[in-house]
Formats: sequence, structure tokens, C-alpha cells
Amino acid sequence: MRSVVPDYLTDVLADVESDTSGEPAGYIPELAAADPERLAAVFATVDGTVHGAGDPDVAFTIQSISKPFVYAMALSDRGFDRVLAKVGVEPSEEAFNEISLENDTGRPRNPMINAGAITAHSLTGPENVTPVERVDRVVQGLSAFAGRQLTVDETVCASEMENAHRNLAIAYMLRSHGILTEDPRAVVDGYIRQCSVLVTTRDLAMMAATLANRGVNPPSDEQVVDGAVVRQVLSVMATCGMYDAAGDWATQVGIPAKSGVAGGLIGALPGQLGIATFSPRLDRHGNSVRGVSLFERFSADMGLHVMEVPPAARAVVRSNRVRGDGADAIRVLRLQGSLSEFLWCAGINRHGGGDGRALRRRSSDPRRPRVMRWRL
Ligand code: GLN
Repeated sequence: MRSVVPDYLTDVLADVESDTSGEPAGYIPELAAADPERLAAVFATVDGTVHGAGDPDVAFTIQSISKPFVYAMALSDRGFDRVLAKVGVEPSEEAFNEISLENDTGRPRNPMINAGAITAHSLTGPENVTPVERVDRVVQGLSAFAGRQLTVDETVCASEMENAHRNLAIAYMLRSHGILTEDPRAVVDGYIRQCSVLVTTRDLAMMAATLANRGVNPPSDEQVVDGAVVRQVLSVMATCGMYDAAGDWATQVGIPAKSGVAGGLIGALPGQLGIATFSPRLDRHGNSVRGVSLFERFSADMGLHVMEVPPAARAVVRSNRVRGDGADAIRVLRLQGSLSEFLWCAGINRHGGGDGRALRRRSSDPRRPRVMRWRL
């Protein structure tokens, strides 16, 4: 039976479509040439169900959304101690491309800003890996999170490399502090290749769903990184993923998230779902304007804020009856308690099996049980 989620996503996209504020990233010429009207949203649940609307299969470069995944790879490849010795976990309250290094140690403040991400890139793969092998490890790692083979957009990569003065400045600073131990130019080249990996909104939702699913890619069932790494990555996304807008985001949306300057935005809701949106016009923080609005809507409509406390529950199923006969038969479940609104809207019955359509979605009085009906 058809889910209500695609219709919901289509409605919400239509609501934000008229907002043309913001500008595509200007400092990477190829990104400035992107079609600013593109718009997409995809939900991928931890059980592998994917719903999309708009342009979910249009490819664009991952940019900074690669950062949490590459941080995960560095933690897996080198261990927590070695990575934490070189990259902190404190919000920087500064723009993503600031040279935010701790005064005494020269350690970048967190892995979501460029300084920390360039360092995390240098910490992927085994100890004596070559720059080329390291890029291969990163592209394969991102592909494992997405559940399909990803590739690098050479044009965007060359365009950013020609204008990489700021990232090169950051890398040379890191080298002077001994945080980077190799040729800074080679590390920036690898980091920019990492940022130039092509993804679709569907891929990003799946990558986020892998984080939401304790590091297991839902369709392939591959354990990409372990649970302790995921916990670390989601924590840093929650506090630093939206740069100097992280506090606003934490209070308004409340979903661990990461944005990229090509217009992508992901959120990972532990144990539930990955969400991705795409719209290239950016606000002054470098976050997608329409993407932020979409996430605000999703969070409010479906109660997705991680700090939202569900009402105390007794038994979830209050009654379970069949009404009518044959083709007209309907099962009526009266449910109560802490099921999230997302499950209600989707008609995805995590507790009772089946994939039905919720005919009546919610009771307006939170103290009364909600009624859900499935066609048999
Ligand atoms: N490649 C971009 C840069 O380093 C990524 C920045 C971003 O997406 N916020 O500037």
C-alpha cells in the first residue's frame, strides 16, 4: 500500500520553493554555475525504506558533508587517542574556513571546520599510505556509507584546487604546528578530491541512515564503522555540524546534521532515519537556505528533535480489532505512547509488522490514544 511520505515531502518542497534568498557558493567557480532552482528531499529509514521528492537523483559534490564520514574513517583507521590528539571536539563559533586552532597546541577545534577536516583527511588509511592511496581509501569509505560506488567530479575538483589559497594557508599553519606531518599541498589536494565526490540526495540520505543505524548500511547490511565511532561522529555533528549556526540549529531543529557548500544537507536521527536535502543557495554561514527551512519543518511536523521527551507510555497497543469482511475489512489499532510522528505519518509499523497507510494520523488531544487503520 502506498506510503503518505512522498506526498508529505512534495507538499513541504512546494512550500519552500518560492524562497530564492541566498546565493550559490561563489568561491568555487564551478559551484557558482550550479542550477540554483534544484530542490530535493529524501528520507531513508534504518530498515532500508527510502522516500524522495523533487530531484533526488541529481548529482552534486558532497563538499563538507564528507567531513563526518572521513572523521569516522580516521577514528576507525588510527584509533580515538591518535585522532583526538590532533583534532578537538569543541564548537569553534567561527566560519567553516576560519583558521580555528587552539592557541597552545595548534590543534584544530573540531573536525567539521576545514582545519579539522584537512587534519582528519591526513589521518585516514594506514600510517605510511601515499596521498593517492589515501584518496582511494576515502572514496571507497564514502561509497560504503552510500551503499554504491561513488566517483570524483574532476571539473569541480580542478576548479576548487585553482582557488584553494585559504585551505592551503590553513594546511601550512597546521604543518607549522606539527599537526600535519606531510606536504601540505598534497593533503589539501586529497581533501579537495574528498569534497568533490559526486552524490545524489538519495545517496546522502542513505549515508545519514548508516549513521542512524549504528554504522550499518541499511540495504547492504555492511558494518561500515562501529557503534563507538558513530556515537562520536553524531555528537560532533550535533555540536559543530552547522558551524557558527550550530546553537540555533540545536534548539530549532535538534537533529545531528552537516551541510555542504554545494547545497546538500544531512541529518541523522539515531535509531530512526537519515534525512537529506539539496538546494544550492546558501546563507551567510554556508548552509543551504531552503535546506534549513525544510529541516525546521520536518522537525516541527514530526517531533524529530532529539531532546523532545515522548509522553510516558504503558502498553502501546490499546486495542486491535478487525471491522468488516473480505476486501472491505479494516484492522483498527488503537495505539498510545511514545511512537514518533514519523512512524505515524509513514504508516510504518515498527512494532506490529506491515507497511500500511495511516488513514487517520493523530488525535489532537495528546492524552487520548491515537487511532491507526490499515487495509488488510
Ligand atoms: N571544499 C569546501 C572548502 O573546503 C568545503 C566547504 C563546505 O562545504 N562548507 O571550502
